[in-house]
Amino acid sequence: MADDAQHRIAEFIEPFRVEPGSKVKLGRDFDPAFKAGVKKKRKGRKLLAEGVKILAEYQERLAAQDTWGVLLVLQALDAAGKDGTIRHVMSGVNPQGVSVHGFKVPSAEELDHDFLWRYAKRLPARGEIGIFNRSYYEETLVVRVHPENLDRQRLPRAAKKGDIWNRRYREINDWERYLTDNGFRIVKLFLNLSKEEQRRRFLRRIDLPDHNWKFSAADVRERECFDDYRKAMSETLSHTSTEWAPWYVIPADRKWFMRIGAAAVLAHTLMEIDPRFPAVSDERRQQLQEVKGGLEAEAPDGAAPDPFEAELRRKAGNGDGRAKDVPVAGGAAG
Ligand code: AMP
Ligand code: MG
Repeated sequence: MADDAQHRIAEFIEPFRVEPGSKVKLGRDFDPAFKAGVKKKRKGRKLLAEGVKILAEYQERLAAQDTWGVLLVLQALDAAGKDGTIRHVMSGVNPQGVSVHGFKVPSAEELDHDFLWRYAKRLPARGEIGIFNRSYYEETLVVRVHPENLDRQRLPRAAKKGDIWNRRYREINDWERYLTDNGFRIVKLFLNLSKEEQRRRFLRRIDLPDHNWKFSAADVRERECFDDYRKAMSETLSHTSTEWAPWYVIPADRKWFMRIGAAAVLAHTLMEIDPRFPAVSDERRQQLQEVKGGLEAEAPDGAAPDPFEAELRRKAGNGDGRAKDVPVAGGAAG
């Protein structure tokens, strides 16, 4: 069953994957309106619900195993729907196991450090899924499109010599490789929105009073740089999609499809990690049995010594399909 789902998901996300070493031109290679043959929004909702369920299950195991961490990097142009994607895709997972950080214009303190410093401070711990709403990739996007950002970073002259962007790609690749080698998997999603769909979404934000807060004058100014961003993103995808941390370009013109795509890529990574609940050693099982005996002996007059075990036995007897989980004799539950 799990193998089957894993196979289907792998096939579904294949068209989004940026082949490491390939040269990407976003406008040519990726269609923002692609929907992989999923015709109906209703069917899409069902797929998303399935994805959310898989994520919840695997996130619990990831936390229990406490060995791997996962970093989800979300990049997009304005109005592509990063926030909504986080809200929907993570709707089923335990909030205790997830952290979300949005990165804005860097503070004076942040500018006083190397460019990866503020991102390194926010990395997820083992057992966690960390989400970056914008990320260190802004360092090759907004910083490249608006070079005054680079001036503010006050790099020494030697560090600005040569092709600074190629160097940043290499440094990011090295950093991601280091993280991956040490047990932190990185899932990188670019939510690919068309210029026309962005225009419509801006208008919606202006027309609906409850959405006005999402719109700022800066957004239209940035829209004027749409092509520059697309070019900078194409370069970034070409240079930083690696075997250890590939990029996925998710079609973003249909929000419902984008959410399925995002959930599927994250689910795929979790399934690859395949985290397991920690195994119980014989010694530990023995210890549990001893404690169990003590607790049963404390049962007041008339009470079942172990009401939970009685319940499990009843369920197993009913053959309600949960029998395989029932550790009736072993008592290793929990
Ligand atoms: P928002 O995500 O809409 O709240 O906007 C955050 C703003 O911070 C965007 O305009 C980004 O371009 C900007 N921003 C994020 N990271 C950086 C960075 N490293 N350097 C400069 N600006 C950034
Ligand atoms: Mg904004």
